Amino acid sequence: MMGRTHMMLGALTGALLESQAPGLGVLEGILIGAIGGLVPDLDHPNSKATRSIAPIALGGSRRNSMVLMSLGVMALAWQGHLPYDGVMAIACWLLVAALSKHRGITHSLIGLLSATYAVHTWLGASWIIFAVGYASHLFADMLTDRGVPLLWPLQLDFSIPTGFSTGRFWSTFVEKWIQMGCILYIGWILVPHLEQLLRLAEAQLLTTF
Ligand SMILES: [Zn+2]
Repeated sequence: MMGRTHMMLGALTGALLESQAPGLGVLEGILIGAIGGLVPDLDHPNSKATRSIAPIALGGSRRNSMVLMSLGVMALAWQGHLPYDGVMAIACWLLVAALSKHRGITHSLIGLLSATYAVHTWLGASWIIFAVGYASHLFADMLTDRGVPLLWPLQLDFSIPTGFSTGRFWSTFVEKWIQMGCILYIGWILVPHLEQLLRLAEAQLLTTF
């Protein structure tokens, strides 16, 4: 599926689950859910997620950039220049994702659990939103004919037979409608928060000018 579809589905789960993490604002919930929805495709050299964190393709491949970046961060954390607990697990996870084939370990339950563990230091109680956003990606990919290896390392692809095949004209059309539906639903969820969001924007403007 398209990165934008995964991002929108993740954002929707974030908007729906934001109340599960005490003290979290709805916008933060949407952001964490969207990130969770994008992360599994860090195993693809040209996915939206990979292009976001590795904008430069070293030696013609963004995988090289991710490997170098992960190793650099690991070295800095090892030497105490970065917080070891919060950074080392994330860098290790990124390294594994960069070296994996597409729809391998990152599209499995092990990938979901290890990624959630890696980010829990930063996310606190909102780890649940990240995890559900991530799970929404696996579920959406299960709706495609290729499926996902949920029980990796077992080479067994799980899919829900919908006949959905990515890249075709009609599947792109359906995905556009899914994206539009997510945007409208998120907008609907945001309506009760409008006053709070306007106050936030006003405070931001006052601090900027
Ligand atoms: Zn995927």
